[in-house]
Amino acid sequence: MNRRAISLRGYVASISLAGASILLWCAITLEIRFIDTWIVPAVVFGVLFAISEIFPIRLPGRVDSGEWTMSATFGFALLLMVPYQAALIGIAAATLFGDLLAQPRKPRVRIAFNLGQITLAFALAGMVLVVARGSTAITAGSGASIGHLLLLLPAGFVMYGINILLVSLAISIDQSAPVVTVLRADFAPFDLATHALLLSFAPVFVVLWRSSPWLTGVLLVATLATYRAMHEAIASRHESRHDELSGLGNRRLLHERIGELRAAATTDRSFAVMVMDLDGFKAINDTFGHEVGDLLLVEVAERLKRQRTLDLVARTGGDEFVIVVRDHLAPEELRAAGSHLRSLVSAPYEIQEIPLQISASVGVAVHSGDEDALDVLASADTAMYFAKGEGSGVVIADLMHDRRGPGRLQLIPDLRQAIDADELRIEYQPQVSLLTGEVVGLEALLRWDHPRHGLVAPGRFIAAAEHTELLPALTRYVFERVLRDERALRLEGFELPLSVNVSSRDLLDSRLPRDLAELLHASGVRAERVTIEVTENALFAEPERVARVLDELAASGFGLSVDDFGTGYASLSRLRDHPFTEVKIDRSFVLAMRHNQAGAKILSSVIELAHALDMDVVAEGIERSDQLSELQRLGCSRGQGYLLSPPLPVSELVPLLARGAVDVSGADRQPGRSHLTVVADNVS
Ligand code: C2E
Ligand code: MG
Ligand code: MG
Repeated sequence: MNRRAISLRGYVASISLAGASILLWCAITLEIRFIDTWIVPAVVFGVLFAISEIFPIRLPGRVDSGEWTMSATFGFALLLMVPYQAALIGIAAATLFGDLLAQPRKPRVRIAFNLGQITLAFALAGMVLVVARGSTAITAGSGASIGHLLLLLPAGFVMYGINILLVSLAISIDQSAPVVTVLRADFAPFDLATHALLLSFAPVFVVLWRSSPWLTGVLLVATLATYRAMHEAIASRHESRHDELSGLGNRRLLHERIGELRAAATTDRSFAVMVMDLDGFKAINDTFGHEVGDLLLVEVAERLKRQRTLDLVARTGGDEFVIVVRDHLAPEELRAAGSHLRSLVSAPYEIQEIPLQISASVGVAVHSGDEDALDVLASADTAMYFAKGEGSGVVIADLMHDRRGPGRLQLIPDLRQAIDADELRIEYQPQVSLLTGEVVGLEALLRWDHPRHGLVAPGRFIAAAEHTELLPALTRYVFERVLRDERALRLEGFELPLSVNVSSRDLLDSRLPRDLAELLHASGVRAERVTIEVTENALFAEPERVARVLDELAASGFGLSVDDFGTGYASLSRLRDHPFTEVKIDRSFVLAMRHNQAGAKILSSVIELAHALDMDVVAEGIERSDQLSELQRLGCSRGQGYLLSPPLPVSELVPLLARGAVDVSGADRQPGRSHLTVVADNVS
């Protein structure tokens, strides 16, 4: 069937109309005499049906949040006890009554659809009984035969099946999703045994009612007790696997689900995990208070929950959501799905009359081989941080099939070993005074010669380490090595400030300042000699936590530098909120400078402002002499780049330092081609 050929409105109208026609036929053909004995049970079981519709056991959280009610039991009791038409009218009336009482604000079309859907489902279930036995009702005095009991199973199956099918079709039309996908999600929480148990109560009610209506009361009490026990069991199971605030799944449910899917996965039955993190949620929380923040999270959760094609939506942290997609989707389809979720979340909100808007970053990873279930999650998480860092919205993680070499996650075990075996090296790139050519500082850059993959770019393996416990170890490793090299250089007679890079994740680590201060103390190097480079985007992740760490580092005496300035969204005035001592202008600015006038203007105002704020300015990535002279003209005092010197191991650094100064005369010459560029060419 062509889904687009049918509008949701048309579909809902047809189902409602079909239900209404059935009910009309029932009303016309039903003959009622006031002495009919079935009138009382019809009313009693109709009321019980309505009551159970009003008090269902809700299973919030799963995308396809299910509901369990006893109404099917009473619906079947009606079918078994009163004329077919009367049963259908009773069921429809009870459904309508239940809907109006429990959800008075439910839109009329949905009430009409619900009515049509239930009428159709019970009408067809009743047909099963009619076809098999000539009548739905258990005739008075005959009692419920075993045949009746057995027939209830296919009839019940038809009833539940039609219900699920009709709803799934509506969702499939609404969300333009394949009906199979929706059906699969809708069937997932369907517990056959429990539903069979609930149905088996129906004939018992009928037989008891026939022998004495009072006995039905006794059974009702017993049923109620069972129902409550079930409710509690479900609720406690549910509680331990769901997030209280949003009703979505929690980390436990997520891990269980991914584990299940991992176990069932084959090459053509994989699954994908999306990690979605809200951008700037903290600011909303801080500005409008936690209550508004919480309500916003609930609203985001609601929007995600409505996406019935998703297998699971979980909330795993403050403003982090994880979505499991069970369909086998191509990367482009996954990217589109991620973008769709982003656009859902970023549509405007109104919370306590405050208009709000928020964006989100999404990382996607596909389980495509035999990697561990949790690796997929970690990989999606890494991708999300990339998306956030790049401001690119959706990033798909390259787990196994990475053109650029080994998948990031595959590097982790090797990296661990490399740290233990001291296989990492550090190179230093001189920072040069653009006025005198004097080397005024050294930036430490980490190098890893992988035994099989060759030189791995630091951006790559550091990104992999960022989501493991390896990162703190790596950062401390670099620090120790740098402090050791500083001492060695001092012994050779070169006293130079050193810059060390830390990752944005390091700045969320409250132990970092103390640990670095301890390492520094043990080495005897003065804090002023060490500058810590922080990328601009690190400031956005969790501004308050980051600010605290930065303040503590500054209090210990470290210099603080904003690396890659201009690639993110920080403004210089925003940098003033933090104790930065230096700005490193990203090489993209240096590149743009020559090609357009605006680039040069921006650069000159950044330099001016930074100087006004008492910060040093370093231009990165100077590769050509025309860039050098332009920077000199704009008043930039320091620079770094292949033209001046590539990053060098300590052994090669000493001769350069011994020469005293680098040539900054601006005369045309070839840049020092770095060891790294050669390898980078090979790798990509
Ligand atoms: P960064 O801190 O901005 O480092 C400058 C990068 O530019 C280095 O790349 C350097 O080799 C390269 N570079 C220097 N001059 C030029 C030039 O003239 N042209 C071009 N195109 N590139 C130039 P590298 O070593 O690959 O490092 C990449 C990034 O990895 C660094 O960017 C830094 O963010 C990170 N990184 C490096 N070492 C560490 C470390 O020990 N810890 C942490 N957390 N990050 C590190
Ligand atoms: Mg740097
Ligand atoms: Mg940089």
